Amino acid sequence: MKTLRLILGDQLNPRHSWFAGVQPGVCYLMAEMRQETDYARHHIQKVMAFFAAMRNFAEDLAAAGHQVRYYRISDPDNPQRLPELIARALAETQADRFEYLLPDEYRLDRQLRELCQGLPVESGFADTEHFYTHRGELADFFRGKKQLLMESFYRMMRRRHGVLMQGDAPEGGQWNFDRENRRTWSGSPPVPALPQLSQDLTGLEREIRGAGVQTIGRAGAAAFAWPTSRKAALALLGHFCQHLLPCFGAYQDAMHHQEPFLFHSRLSFALNSKMLSPREVVERVAREYHERPGEIQLAQAEGFIRQILGWREYMRGVYWKEMPAYATLNHLQNHRPLPEFYWTGQTHMNCLRTAIRQSLDTAYAHHIQRLMVTGNFALLAQVHPDQVDAWYLGIYIDALEWVEITNTRGMSQYADGGLLATKPYISSANYLRNMSDYCEGCRYNPRKAIGEDACPFNALYWNFLEEKRPWLSGNPRMGMMYRLLDRKDPAEQEGIRRRAAAILDRPDDY
Ligand code: FAD
Ligand code: SF4
Repeated sequence: MKTLRLILGDQLNPRHSWFAGVQPGVCYLMAEMRQETDYARHHIQKVMAFFAAMRNFAEDLAAAGHQVRYYRISDPDNPQRLPELIARALAETQADRFEYLLPDEYRLDRQLRELCQGLPVESGFADTEHFYTHRGELADFFRGKKQLLMESFYRMMRRRHGVLMQGDAPEGGQWNFDRENRRTWSGSPPVPALPQLSQDLTGLEREIRGAGVQTIGRAGAAAFAWPTSRKAALALLGHFCQHLLPCFGAYQDAMHHQEPFLFHSRLSFALNSKMLSPREVVERVAREYHERPGEIQLAQAEGFIRQILGWREYMRGVYWKEMPAYATLNHLQNHRPLPEFYWTGQTHMNCLRTAIRQSLDTAYAHHIQRLMVTGNFALLAQVHPDQVDAWYLGIYIDALEWVEITNTRGMSQYADGGLLATKPYISSANYLRNMSDYCEGCRYNPRKAIGEDACPFNALYWNFLEEKRPWLSGNPRMGMMYRLLDRKDPAEQEGIRRRAAAILDRPDDY
C-alpha cells in the first residue's frame, strides 16, 4: 500500500500527527502553483513568503526522512493546477490512496472534495490540528441566535481552555480590558528595533517574476519582515513577548507615520501558514504575564490573547457558518469602483497615502489602519465589497479568504448587515486626528467638512449617513449620529452633499 498526502501552502504545521514518525509507504506532495498565485493579485512579498516557507518546510520533512515530491513554480513539469498535479503524482508514485488536510478556504475545500470523487484510488482527509475549534463549532454555539456576539464566544473559550481564569471567574475580575487599549503614541515609549531575519530571497523573487506571476507591491529586501521557517517564527514570538507585549494593548489602536508596526506582533503570517499554533502563542503569552508580574499588565496580555483565542477563532467559525453566501453579501448596496490610488498610494490624503504606501512596501498594515483608514474610506466612498475584498485579499501578507473576507466584508464593510458588527465602523476625520499623527502632515483640514481644503472624510461621512438612512437610521447605536446630522442647517447640509458628490465622482483627484 502506498499513500500520497497533499500539503497545501498554508498547512505548514510541523507538529501535525502525520509527521510523528516516518512511514515508508507515504509520499508527501507539495507544489507552488499558478492556481494559487493567480486567483487574486497578491503582494510579491506574500508569494515569496509562502513559497520560501513551503521550501523550508519540505526540506525539514526530507531531512527528517520523509519522502517528499516538491514542485517549484519554475519547474517545467509543474502542472500548476491541483487536478493535474494530483493525477501526475498518483501516476508517478503508483499510490493507491490519496489524503489531504482539510483546507481553510471554501474554494479549495470544494475543489478537493469534487476532485476526490473522480479519483481512481481511495481518498480521505485529516484535520490540520491547528485551530482550537472545529469548523462547525461556532455555528453550534450560536444556534438560533440572530447576532453572533464575539464577546460571548470569547468568554466561552476562556472558560473552556482555562486561559487567564481563576476558577470560573476571569483573572482581575474583568473579561475585557478594551477600554484601556486606546492610547495614542507620539515617540514614547520607544519601539524596539525589528529582529534581523537574515534571508536572501532575491533568487526566489526572480524565479516568481520569471514564471510570469503578476503581483503588486515591492519586494524590498530591507522591508521583508516575515519569518519563513518555524525557527524564525519562534524567534519572532520570543521578540514579541520580550519587547512588545508590555505595550501591546495600550497602543493597539495607535497609528504613527514613522512606525508601521508599533507594538504589534507581526505573527499573523506565521499563524496563518500554521508554522505556529494559536495554542502555543496564547499559552506562551499567558505564561509570560504570570512570570513577569509588574512588567506585563493584565490588560496587555488579555488584549493580545483576545485577538487569537477570540477574534481569530471567531472569524473562522463565522466563515464556515456563512459561506458560500457570505462572499456575495452587499447589504448597503454599494456599487462604486475602488479608487485607483489603492493600488498606487497616489493620493493627497495623508492617512490613506501613508497606510497604502506602507502596505505596498511591507505587505502589512495593522488592524486599525485596515479598519479605520483604508476600510473606513472604502465604506464611506460606497465601494462595491467585491472590489474591497479583492484588494485586501491581495495586498496583505496574512490574507487568506477565511480571515480576510470576514474582516473585510463583515467587520469593515458591514456588507453582512450587522451579523458580526453592531454598527458600521465609520468615522469622520475626528477619530483619525485623535488616534494618529497623519492629519499633521496633510494638505486637508480635519476640522472642516466644506471648502477646497476640507478633509474628504468629513463630507463623505455625513453624506454616507444621509444616503444610507434607510438601512441605518433605525439602529439605536447610530441614533446620536443621525441627531447631529439632522441638527445641521440646510445650507451646511447642501454644502456637504455637493462636496461629497464631487469626491465620490473623482476620488483619485483628492
Ligand atoms: P496583532 O495586532 O499583533 O494581533 C495578534 C494576532 O491576533 C494576529 O496575528 C492575528 O492572528 C490575530 N488577530 C487580530 N485581529 C484579528 C481579527 N480581526 N481577525 C482574526 N485574527 C485577528 N487578519 C488576517 O490574519 N488575515 C487577513 O486577511 C486579515 N484581513 C483583515 C482585513 C480587514 C479589513 C481588517 C480590519 C482586519 C483584517 N485582519 C486580517 C485582522 C488583523 O488586522 C490582522 O490579523 C493583524 O493586523 C495582523 O497583524 P499582527 O500579526 O501584527 O497582529
Ligand atoms: Fe486623513 Fe483627513 Fe487627516 Fe488628511 S485631514 S490625514 S485626509 S483624516
